[in-house]
Amino acid sequence: MARIVQKFGGTSLANIEKINNAARLVAQAVGDGHEVAVVVSAMSGTTNQLAGWAEEISDNLDPCEYDVVVSAGEQITAGLMALAIQKLNIQAQSWLGWQLPIRTDLQHARAHIEKIETEAIAGSLAQGVVAVVPGFQGVDQDNRVATLGRGGSDASAVALAASIRADLCNIYTDVDGVYTSDPRIVAKARKLDKITYEEMLELSSLGAKVLQSRAAELAMRHRVVVQVLSTFHDLPGTLLVDEDSGVEQQIVSGIAFSRDDAKITLTNIPDQPGIAAGIFGPLSQSNINVDMIVQNASGDGASADLTFTVGKNDLESAISVIEGARSSLKYAELMSDDNVTKISVVGVGMRTHAGVAATMFETLAEKGINIQVISTSEIKVSVLIAKEYTELALRSLHTAYGLDSESSSR
Ligand code: ASP
Ligand code: MG
Repeated sequence: MARIVQKFGGTSLANIEKINNAARLVAQAVGDGHEVAVVVSAMSGTTNQLAGWAEEISDNLDPCEYDVVVSAGEQITAGLMALAIQKLNIQAQSWLGWQLPIRTDLQHARAHIEKIETEAIAGSLAQGVVAVVPGFQGVDQDNRVATLGRGGSDASAVALAASIRADLCNIYTDVDGVYTSDPRIVAKARKLDKITYEEMLELSSLGAKVLQSRAAELAMRHRVVVQVLSTFHDLPGTLLVDEDSGVEQQIVSGIAFSRDDAKITLTNIPDQPGIAAGIFGPLSQSNINVDMIVQNASGDGASADLTFTVGKNDLESAISVIEGARSSLKYAELMSDDNVTKISVVGVGMRTHAGVAATMFETLAEKGINIQVISTSEIKVSVLIAKEYTELALRSLHTAYGLDSESSSR
């Protein structure tokens, strides 16, 4: 007998028939003798609708009230899921975030879980009652409802699994697992049987949508055994594992992309100490994350051009922060471009194998794709390219790294 967390995403709960279908997967696990806690997302589309209503009232919302509104979707599916499980003659009870409680910090709309009280739920699980917990929500220290940021139900599930020391956390979704790249674009993408925590975290942070990055981070930190799998096909999914667990060693495991970045270039800035600090200091004080950075000296050696990327949502504020400091920064021109895609190749094999970056640059050069900015870490290489080349770049790199499946599924 094991203790299992089963998390269902919005597309797996999109209507009553699908909720009934998910409840059957719960019943199966109970039938196999397991203690089961279920974490649910809102029905797909619901959170967007709720957020849209709130934003229609004001675009400068009180985040506490925003959270009251957007957390409602998961309350509905939690109750419906408990009902659907009960209909299969299995005891089930819902536990809203405040009832457990799931404690969060005060950062409304993007709160972090600090602690989950498990005494009550553990007692109930031990009596054979399935616990149904709404994802995405918790309560802050003032007992106000807080939500975890979009896609946050994955993090709820992993945090719950860690807190109740579950043996397994199954993340049920509408794809069969984690793929080498987005199969909607790269037809030859393959499902991975296993992926290391670290690679999953990089891929999620770099744009892969299959698991929220905060959930990957929590799983890695607490070594939660997580499986990403399909609600609709009875197949093994992708298991998150430790690096030393003998996972089949591909040098590159996956290729992610993100269209959420924008590029800023400052030309002719004085090439002298303190200039980078003068730019990035104020940006970080305004809570704007800078990702990739490249500086190239100009011919005369006295000035340089500096290019960096920020989140698309932050582009306007970043521009105004920099323009505000124009007199001290002394740049000639500020240019920005949000028609860009960041493509990243990820793999723990890069630690021990040279040439991964070179293969990336050669492959893109062969296709005539210009690289605008580069950044690397121990297990990833990212490049920024013009958005129009996204598909071509992904497919060529997928082939170049030997990731293509033998038989294309479409
Ligand atoms: N319902 C929330 C969202 O749509 C949380 C989740 O589904 O993970 O972002
Ligand atoms: Mg989701």
